[in-house]
Amino acid sequence: MNTFTPEAASADIGVYGLGVMGANLARNLARNGYRTAVFNRTLARTERLMAAHGGGTEGVFVPSESLDDFVASLVRPRVAIIMVQAGVATDEAMKQLAEHMEAGDIIVDCGNSLFSDTVRRERWARERGLHFVGAGVSGGEEGALWGPSIMPGGTRESYDRLGPMFEKISAHYQGEPCCTHVGADGAGHFVKMVHNGIEYADMQVIAEAYNLLREGLGLAPAAIADIFAQWNQGELNSYLMEITVEVLRQVDADTGVPLVDLIVDQASQKGTGKWTVQTALDLAVPVTGIGEATFARGASCSLPQRAAARGLEGSASAIEVADEDVAAFVEDVRQALFASKVVAYSQGFDEITAGADAFGWQIDKGALAKIWRAGCIIRAGFLDDIASAYEADPDLPLLLAAGPFAQRFQECVPSLRRIVALSAMAGVPAPVFSSSLSYFDQIRAQRLPAALIQGQRDFFGSHTYARIDKPGVFHTLWATEGRAEEQWS
Ligand code: NAP
Repeated sequence: MNTFTPEAASADIGVYGLGVMGANLARNLARNGYRTAVFNRTLARTERLMAAHGGGTEGVFVPSESLDDFVASLVRPRVAIIMVQAGVATDEAMKQLAEHMEAGDIIVDCGNSLFSDTVRRERWARERGLHFVGAGVSGGEEGALWGPSIMPGGTRESYDRLGPMFEKISAHYQGEPCCTHVGADGAGHFVKMVHNGIEYADMQVIAEAYNLLREGLGLAPAAIADIFAQWNQGELNSYLMEITVEVLRQVDADTGVPLVDLIVDQASQKGTGKWTVQTALDLAVPVTGIGEATFARGASCSLPQRAAARGLEGSASAIEVADEDVAAFVEDVRQALFASKVVAYSQGFDEITAGADAFGWQIDKGALAKIWRAGCIIRAGFLDDIASAYEADPDLPLLLAAGPFAQRFQECVPSLRRIVALSAMAGVPAPVFSSSLSYFDQIRAQRLPAALIQGQRDFFGSHTYARIDKPGVFHTLWATEGRAEEQWS
């Protein structure tokens, strides 16, 4: 005998996969007035959810024991959310659902899927008359429960059915929902991937600032927490800064030592930063901040290499900051952090532009910046300015050179230079600070040594080059007496 006997065609929406995220998303939907069908591969999770939250005070759940019953419990056109691990599990869940669904029904993948998988799945579902929506969801378990930032892709038609529900359960910023239709097929998962890449860079620059304050001034974690709490009141205001303050203030109850000093210094990753960098390499977009942040996690986990290099003499001299210069040093670190953060966002938005061009998506970057203002992990005060910049010019070629940013960024550059120079001399690693400055110096240069690279390429591979003084494609007979030049087109 079944534990649950759901009423047919009674639920507004369903959630398949009741792990941490799925259960919280289902509770969010139910709390917001949607009758929510719930199903999990392992029945125990469904039972646990119903035992804890099925009493009716949190809204109406329609639990099922079988996938047949789950699909039958949804009102047409059906909307079923998959919230399982990305990869094979998502493919399996999608195929199982598709077997039970009808033309016009909507399958939504809210997991952290790779956008190219979403493009493939959307095509597969479309061939069967189904809608497939890849929706990025950010905010962790608390966000899923109380209001995440939601980035759905897929067809406009599917958004017309799904959008109102997602907008209602999403976080709200000054009354505006943090959910918008991002674009066709994989666009939603693409921007979620870049969001996570920016998150990697944002976390790393905060960590670099912490390290410089610690190494440079010998400050204790709690003192740095106080500085960060102050910074969080201004242009650096963000969720990540806020939680960093909490982490730095945490003291281990057993030892009385700051907890951060007891945590093993190896940063893990689940892969979205790597995807952002891999995709950026495919698109030839320099996301140097995200790249260095991802490699920094790799470096922290390179244990044999770290063991072999520990103790090597690096000719570094300790940072010496005189008492009267402490305030200026702290301010330099703050400005270096802000400048590097602007570079990371600017590069991330460049990747979104390049992805939209490559995959044929119309992505409104102003609207995207707006839905990142609340609910998600990279929520930050300055996303308001990013939204305004893209609203003023949707085709903005470079965020860091846009109106308000250009001036503020340039004001921060002298601090960034001092901090990068100081960290290099002192041997304190600051890979994202350094690469952000190099990136800026590259893109602002009148002329780059890329001309020499073109010469080298033409020398060994006849790869040709263009000239600044006349049109055409040229090849030089480099080894020939007189170095004759041929015009190839
Ligand atoms: P979780 O707690 O580990 O739960 C995983 C769920 O997937 C369980 O319900 C599990 O069912 C189900 N599952 C696994 N393999 C399956 C298969 N082959 N067929 C059917 N169901 C299967 O995971 P989670 O943290 O909720 O994450 C779910 C998704 O959300 C992932 O894609 C994750 O990347 C994404 N996400 C997570 C966060 C976060 O902060 N955790 C934030 C944003 C996005 P059983 O109970 O039967 O094992």
